[in-house]
Amino acid sequence: MAKVIIIGAGGVGGVVAHKCAQLPEVFSDILLASRTEAKCKAIAEQIGRPIRTAQVDADNVAELTALLEKEQPELVINVALPYQDLSIMDACLNAGVNYLDTANYEPPDTARFEYHWQWAYRERFEQAGLTALLGSGFDPGATNMFTAYLAKHYFDEIEELDIIDVNGGDHGYPFATNFNPEINIREVSAECRHWEGGQFVTTPPMSKMARFECPDEVGSYNIYRMYHEELESLAKHFPSLKRAQFWMSFGDSYLKHLEVLGNVGMTGIEPVEYNGVEVVPIQFLAKLLPDPSTLGPRTKGKTCIGCIVRGRKDGQEKVMYLYNICDHEACYAEVQSQAISYTTGVPAMIGAKMILEGHWKRPGVWNMEQCDPDPFMADMNQYGLSWQVVELDPGFRLDVRKGAEL
Ligand code: NDP
Repeated sequence: MAKVIIIGAGGVGGVVAHKCAQLPEVFSDILLASRTEAKCKAIAEQIGRPIRTAQVDADNVAELTALLEKEQPELVINVALPYQDLSIMDACLNAGVNYLDTANYEPPDTARFEYHWQWAYRERFEQAGLTALLGSGFDPGATNMFTAYLAKHYFDEIEELDIIDVNGGDHGYPFATNFNPEINIREVSAECRHWEGGQFVTTPPMSKMARFECPDEVGSYNIYRMYHEELESLAKHFPSLKRAQFWMSFGDSYLKHLEVLGNVGMTGIEPVEYNGVEVVPIQFLAKLLPDPSTLGPRTKGKTCIGCIVRGRKDGQEKVMYLYNICDHEACYAEVQSQAISYTTGVPAMIGAKMILEGHWKRPGVWNMEQCDPDPFMADMNQYGLSWQVVELDPGFRLDVRKGAEL
């Protein structure tokens, strides 16, 4: 039984609050805190069990430290934005609280998703006897676990990894993002980096595309290779990997809008002066787009996210595919949110449970794949994200349609 503070009351924060509230034997006292307390209260009203709310600016280390010292929670679940990761880690160190997030730190002025800023906290968390768990969402998060689970149970050595994230959902808007628009667009418009032959190789955004047939009649989709943050930690923690790539599905309408918005400068992150006011184009664009937390009631279809791993077992080449399929409408019926927030929020709750129950309680700063995947994977099946594992033919290759080189 433990007290937790959830920071951030967006799409993901709502799901984490719902899922933690479903387990009072683990999360006995829940405080949902965010910049806008009204959003916390609106989520609290949806939940059958009383949860408390608070206003906090997580960029302000002193203000957050004071809240943590007053409340003395066991753990902070950070589902605010990646910009707040370091200030929340600082406040956790000040107040002696364990830490978990779902996305790595990103400086507001450069679109770079890198772990080194947070890995640099390792000694301080070790010395304080506190656990910090990084990237406990779906990707990163469940995908790190899928890779670790396959490596542990099916292979002697893993050599190639393809993480494939398909969202077959339709919200009916010509252009909207499924999670925070600013973070989403920064991620998608960044240059692609993938792991190949012991180094990261850079290619232009969206320059490699394949056609992927999802299992269980989810459908066939165009998937584009892009950089995603779990590649950095997985390449480091599985040194036998010769290649690791991340792929995401995008519809033609989404890509066309993004191309036009990029061409006219609307996705820029540098401030522009307009009528004496400094405007960051991507932030203005985010203001105009539908709020991701309102997409739930409109979204139909399924997500299919998984890992294809090639490696060796007893000298034989082998290919395994581990995946989860999640239905947008079923998620909405359960927690009033679409599947993107759901697939992020459930692993955040499970990661928190792993720390609070002691399975993953170790001083230091950890990526998911450094922890034992078994209790996490068992909880995925129990708490709404059941998964399947299948063996593919060793001759299996992704059906690359564009950018065959590298
Ligand atoms: P939203 O934009 O919907 O919500 C973010 C919340 O954080 C809002 O409630 C916002 O407050 C709050 N917030 C922002 N700044 C501060 C601050 N300084 N102090 C306190 N609260 C603040 O985002 P999502 O819910 O879609 O995403 C949440 C996180 O989850 C992001 O870090 C995102 O990158 C990550 N994510 C991870 C995924 C994964 O699979 N690993 C997938 C999807 C998302 P306000 O309401 O006032 O704006």
